[in-house]
Amino acid sequence: MGKLAKDFRNYDAEPTGYVRAFYRKNHEHQTFDFVQQKKREYLGLDRERMTVWEMLDHLDDIVDESDPDTTFTQTDHALQTAEAARQANQPRWMIATGLIHDLGKVLCKFGEPQWAVVGDTNPVGCRFSPKIVHAEFFERNPDAVHPVYSTELGVYERGCGLQHVHMSWGHDEYLYHVVKERLPLEALYMIRYHSFYSWHREGAYDYLCDDQDRAMLKWVRAFNRYDLYSKDDAKPDLGQLRAYYEDLTQEYFPEPLSW
Ligand code: FE
Ligand code: FE
Repeated sequence: MGKLAKDFRNYDAEPTGYVRAFYRKNHEHQTFDFVQQKKREYLGLDRERMTVWEMLDHLDDIVDESDPDTTFTQTDHALQTAEAARQANQPRWMIATGLIHDLGKVLCKFGEPQWAVVGDTNPVGCRFSPKIVHAEFFERNPDAVHPVYSTELGVYERGCGLQHVHMSWGHDEYLYHVVKERLPLEALYMIRYHSFYSWHREGAYDYLCDDQDRAMLKWVRAFNRYDLYSKDDAKPDLGQLRAYYEDLTQEYFPEPLSW
């Protein structure tokens, strides 16, 4: 039977505690300094040259420990998200975004622990919002008592815009840098902020946003419907869909990407 909207991201119903354990580690270790270090390590994009299809195949065996809603593979989830956008008659760039939005999870294959790849993201370098999932675990993060990073604005200026805000490190930020020359701004917001639930769902951190962020928020929210609520859909049949998606990826990503 299909799930209702309230049944997704229902962390209280999650029986084994593995999501709790995940956020305990994520919130403890995602400090401002950790994020700077990961950016230095990865944003040179000098590890691999791979096409979107090669990457989809490569990631098929990753299971996302932060996700209480699905046990499907990454390829299934990519196609489910893209198909949900396609069925809703969304533009081709958005369907392409659905297909690739989680490819940054290749960070797992590069040796990163899951807490540095998946799960909700949040700004670092300023106060952690109580609206972040499992915010109680920030107690264990040294930045929570740092003289600058623990203040409301931290290292930022009011209204500076999210492009100037450092987010906790993971697949969203990483993939944004991989594809930022190839897709429209709306798509880049969906990719970069799709796990920033405290912003796009709970309305936190508006004080860091500029007008562009506020204008783009509706696109991030629109995308979230396909990302989250398609997880209950039937397993997609790649055989049937392959021709359509090869054509689509040829349009947006004709060359291998730098990872
Ligand atoms: Fe994701
Ligand atoms: Fe996703």
